[in-house]
Amino acid sequence: MSAQIIDGNVIAERMQAEIAAAVQKMKDEHGVTPGLAAVLVGDNPASRQYVGMKRRRCAKVGIDSFGYELPATTTQEELHKLILELNADPKVHGILVQLPLPDHIDEEAILGAIQLEKDVDGFHPVNIGRLAMKGREPLFIPATPYGCMVLLDEVGVQVSGANAVVLGRSNIVGLPAAMLLLHRNATVTICHSRTKDLPAVVRTADILIAAVGRPEMVKADWVKPGAVVIDVGSNRIEDPTAEKGYRWVGDVAFDEVKEVAGAITPSPGGVGPMTITMLLKNTLRAAEMAIAKAGK
Ligand code: NDP
Repeated sequence: MSAQIIDGNVIAERMQAEIAAAVQKMKDEHGVTPGLAAVLVGDNPASRQYVGMKRRRCAKVGIDSFGYELPATTTQEELHKLILELNADPKVHGILVQLPLPDHIDEEAILGAIQLEKDVDGFHPVNIGRLAMKGREPLFIPATPYGCMVLLDEVGVQVSGANAVVLGRSNIVGLPAAMLLLHRNATVTICHSRTKDLPAVVRTADILIAAVGRPEMVKADWVKPGAVVIDVGSNRIEDPTAEKGYRWVGDVAFDEVKEVAGAITPSPGGVGPMTITMLLKNTLRAAEMAIAKAGK
């Protein structure tokens, strides 16, 4: 039987409409417009494209976005100074520093300089530390893993007690996804490039989150029948039959795995649209916290 297809575009559109309504209500009731500062250092075309997409989505839901495009030669001190200015700016409720930063910049120091209440990407060491601890809650959850959890909830899967396998241990996806699953009482296995007999480990999963960056690596015979599969992967592959000569695929061999899984996200059209949505949600939350703090 073919799996339920989890349509991230539909879920993201619905959530963005809810966010837009909440933003309008905030403007009407408090005279406050949520604001996101997006900081881009260097001229990585993919990063530029991501920042552009995020800013366009902000505009769509009524969030102000302020773009800061700095040259690749920007020094640590210059970037740090900008972060401090943004921390102090009351129009800015969230600060997004697009990663990766150029090699000469100390990423941890920059992320650590962002005021905790404005850390809408959830990458501040304190937010990540809280995510990693039992009984603690971060102020913000990183957008991509947050989106994965929303998708799991959309299909109504019981996370508590489930065997969850996370494929990948990056700081931005795999690790925080595993921590979130643990917070929800799943039994979590984290796989990476040194994991032995990957297919056998993946076959234990009731819930699989794949974030490895390897095109269509997860095959049908890796997947337990009925498992819920969330494919974070977004990989460009050559395809002479495609109009542009390439197409995008996930980390999961979608066509064959959908015949085995209980539910599955496509890629594109699954996690991707959720990532931006969760960033907008975090920015709205940052503005709500600022209003509550000011007693407005
Ligand atoms: P990273 O390259 O930072 O991490 C990849 C992880 O996968 C690492 O932990 C690595 O192991 C592991 N890995 C790599 N190859 C293998 C292998 N053959 N077997 C087992 N494990 C392996 O990637 P990201 O986490 O940043 O991204 C993962 C994917 O998700 C990419 O396709 C990316 O484009 C996509 N992505 C999508 C987003 C979205 O919004 N849809 C957002 C962010 C990412 P080790 O640690 O041992 O090196």
